[in-house]
Amino acid sequence: MKKHLVFIGAPGSGKGTQSAKFKEEMGYNHISTGDLLRAEIAKQSELGKRVKSVMDSGQLVSDDLVVELLKANINLRDSFYIFDGYPRNIAQAETLDEQILNDYKYIAVYFKLDTEKLVERLTNRRVSPDGKHIYNLKTNPPKVAGICNVTGEKLVHRDDDKEEVIRERMKVFESTSGPMLDYYKAKGILTEVDANKGVDEIYNEISLLVK
Ligand code: AMP
Repeated sequence: MKKHLVFIGAPGSGKGTQSAKFKEEMGYNHISTGDLLRAEIAKQSELGKRVKSVMDSGQLVSDDLVVELLKANINLRDSFYIFDGYPRNIAQAETLDEQILNDYKYIAVYFKLDTEKLVERLTNRRVSPDGKHIYNLKTNPPKVAGICNVTGEKLVHRDDDKEEVIRERMKVFESTSGPMLDYYKAKGILTEVDANKGVDEIYNEISLLVK
């Protein structure tokens, strides 16, 4: 049965790539709190100005701020969603249940990958300016060097995809994800995938759960 999906995983574990595939193949809506925050920074909104330095340092933005942004950008009656990058800690997991998903059914998917592999992926990651098209210089390069296949725009290396910041983001993920994973395990809705596997193999595994 089709359900909402909550993708959990360290930066670079493949959540964004799978989200794009689920959007294309199954019509899911993809909501990434990181993308929403980066869009606020690009707009130079008040909110964007407030969060920029926190994001550049690899730390988490305040829970209240993120949940407001999330609420303003979803309509659950509309379609099925993939939550990518939200929740990041147990408080956010509880907020998602109590204030956003309520009685809607969903599955949490944990993308598991070791740190060195993640660092390698992120240092080679390049994205379109809106973050929606994701490339890897080694394993999935664009057709023309430095240019997005889809939009024709110049690809960017996110400021927080530089090695020092990546290591900080990994630390943040490791310290906050454990209790959140236990929370979903206890609810019996957690699935773990080996994020080392290929894009199609992972897609097939997850899609079986929501068909
Ligand atoms: P991401 O694109 O998911 O890697 O997120 C990039 C950055 O945005 C993170 O390092 C945080 O600073 C911020 N961010 C994204 N999602 C959240 C969230 N759910 N809670 C707090 N901060 C977030």
